[in-house]
Amino acid sequence: MARIVELRSDTFTQPTESMRKAMAAADVGDDVWDEDPTVHRLQQRAAEMVGKEASLFVPSGTMGNLCALLSHTESGEEVLLEIDSHIFQNEVAGASVVGGLQLRPLDTVDGRMQPEQVRRAIREPDIHEPRTGLLCIENTHNRKGGICLNPAQTAALAEVAHAAGFPVHLDGARVFNAAVALEVNVRQLTGPVDSVMFCLSKGLSAPVGSLLAGTAPFIERARRMRKMLGGGMRQAGVLAAAGLISINEMVDRLAEDHRNAHRLAEGLQGLTGVDIDLALVETNMVFGDCRPPLTAREFSQRCQEVGVLLDLASPYRWRMVTHRGVSADDVEFAIAAVRRALDANTPAPLRVAR
Ligand SMILES: *Cc1c(COP(=O)(O)O)cnc(C)c1O
Repeated sequence: MARIVELRSDTFTQPTESMRKAMAAADVGDDVWDEDPTVHRLQQRAAEMVGKEASLFVPSGTMGNLCALLSHTESGEEVLLEIDSHIFQNEVAGASVVGGLQLRPLDTVDGRMQPEQVRRAIREPDIHEPRTGLLCIENTHNRKGGICLNPAQTAALAEVAHAAGFPVHLDGARVFNAAVALEVNVRQLTGPVDSVMFCLSKGLSAPVGSLLAGTAPFIERARRMRKMLGGGMRQAGVLAAAGLISINEMVDRLAEDHRNAHRLAEGLQGLTGVDIDLALVETNMVFGDCRPPLTAREFSQRCQEVGVLLDLASPYRWRMVTHRGVSADDVEFAIAAVRRALDANTPAPLRVAR
């Protein structure tokens, strides 16, 4: 079979051999009845890792975020978030449909909202206006390139919300990528916020699942919301067993994905018609901009023909994501293949006959 380098998303990671073994052997019970011992272990360990009282295993990051928004707010309130955030762009307006919430997007250059910008967006008490009920932040920020919020930036944003009397939810789908890239304990990124969701099913390589963490009363409410949304699972320990391996064994290796992404961006720089800003590659994502008339779709098709799969972000923007299923050698292969396919002006690497 021809070689394929899967760079569309880190969600394409396959469970490891040890995950499959742990899944087969997991002790399980009915988790809707709160009787699955493996889910309990996962929730306990996850809460401890992010420094919260309790956590809840949910089927997806989208459901984890929605449970958080529903548990923090009341219908009719306004939620402040970044304009390119996953909750605003990619979660089917669930917060509005299910929660009756108004999402108020704030524009930024690099995904990092400024404390003063958030302060200005907070509503004054006024009979005409909705109440500001929640601030959502995203770390790493997906659509802005996988960039990180550091502990000081996180704390500064949380301080503004807390001073105004409302909580902060962190969409930390890839918060462990941020912690590894910044070389900080993840608790420095989760400590300032009231709740955090993170995904097991992305770079951490589990087949399914995310966790939502916060105070015990918050997680009690979220548990009801999960049930309402249809996310109460029965012998979910089969999945939690893989998740335990994710958080215990798969975090440190994310550094390798970051090195690979950096090398990929470096190797693809200077392609005719494509701009990549190497300085924006902080974690496992590489975004590129095609110069018209070259479209991202056309770029993607040419890459696909040579075995390199990527994701479209907009008509002229594309994304490549590194993960456990992409080796350093795959990256070299992808660089060479894309350069050959795209750039008639760039000579192919010398092949010496042996
Ligand atoms: C993937 C992702 C989610 C949602 O996770 P799913 O499991 O795909 O529902 C939420 N936020 C961000 C930033 C993501 O990248």
